Parts: sequence; C-alpha cells; structure tokens
Amino acid sequence: MRRKLVFATGNEGKMKEIREILKELDLEICSLKEAGIQMDAEENGTTFEENALIKARAAAAHTDAIVMADDSGLEIDYLGGEPGVYSARYLGEDTSYRIKNQNLIDRLEGVPDEKRTARFVCVIAAVLPDGRTLTSRGTIEGIIGREERGGGGFGYDPIFFLPEYGCSTAELSMEQKNEISHRGKALREMKEKLRRELSL
Ligand code: IMP
Repeated sequence: MRRKLVFATGNEGKMKEIREILKELDLEICSLKEAGIQMDAEENGTTFEENALIKARAAAAHTDAIVMADDSGLEIDYLGGEPGVYSARYLGEDTSYRIKNQNLIDRLEGVPDEKRTARFVCVIAAVLPDGRTLTSRGTIEGIIGREERGGGGFGYDPIFFLPEYGCSTAELSMEQKNEISHRGKALREMKEKLRRELSL
C-alpha cells in the first residue's frame, strides 16, 4: 500500500504546487479536507519554524500518515523583519492586500533601493509516523517596490520586486514563480530529506 502524506493546508493553490513538486515520491498526497481532518491550530510561535511545527503536530494528532505544514511570510530589513511571522495578520487578517501593500510602501517612503531589501521565507515542517520531525527553509531575495505591479500571484507579490528579472513576483507566471520561490525551494529541500529519511 502507498504511504500517505497529509499536507496541513486548506489552500488549493498550495496543494497543486505540492503535488507537482512531490509527484516523484511514491506517496498518496492529501489535503486536510481529503484526509477528513478538522483542526484549528493557534499559530502563536515567534518563528516560521515554530509555527510550521505547531500546524504539523496539530494535524499529526489526527492521523498516522506523514504530515507536513508550512509557514511563510515577508521580511523587510528596513522594518526590522516586519511583517515576518505576522504577514497574514498584518493590519488585520481581513484587511485587503491593496491596503497592506500601500501601508508598507508608505513606511518606506524616501528609503533608497539599497535599503529596501526584503525576502519571502517559507519553512516546511514534517512529522513522521514515528514522531520524528524535519524542517526545511527556502527564501527568495528582492526589494520592496514604490508601487504595486502585476496582477498575478497573491498577497505581497505586487510590491516584491526582483531586480534581476526587472519585474515583481506578481508579474511572473505561476510556473516561473514556483521555480524560484521560497515555497518551491523549501519543498524541494523537504523532498530530498524525506527521500533520505524514509527511503522513498
Ligand atoms: P501562510 O504561510 O499561508 O500563513 O501565509 C503567510 C502570509 O505571508 C500570506 O498570507 C502572505 O501575506 C505572505 N506570503 C507568503 N508567501 C507569499 C508569496 O509567495 N507571495 C505573496 N505573499 C506571500
């Protein structure tokens, strides 16, 4: 029987990316919903690692499968790493990204390009059936733009500018973004760790 992996997310976009990147592993990959798990983990950690582990452990309490969860966000150096682990909750969970993005642009008013450095971070945590945990981390470096650009992506993508590509991550196709993104990198690193640990 194929081993099962549950990814603790309700986000279909993430599930698509995860299935694509992990497809070479001999695993049946399910979302929380597909696994019939209902949970509400409180993300009260102060690091991406802590929050990813909180989510993965909460889901692992409901299943014998391998469980994975991720936590991600935007770190802006000039703002001391804000919004960081609070990226989704910045200015309120229900506040539109148009407002969040404009607020960050305003907070960087007059700041020159070399001080507008930022990165997207993604940490993936896995809980194995024997209780061991693994984590992987991926980042992508960029600078905060002076206006929103592009209609693709989500969240902070329109203000995250990649100087070497001459565009924001909201101007990349989904395939291009997955190839270079923090989440893609963390997932590929986790794939190698799982291969080694579980001989997949
Ligand atoms: P979570 O990891 O799903 O809790 O999301 C964290 C938050 O970080 C998202 O709601 C976005 O605000 C931000 N974020 C994470 N990855 C990206 C990305 O690739 N583009 C834009 N925003 C992102």
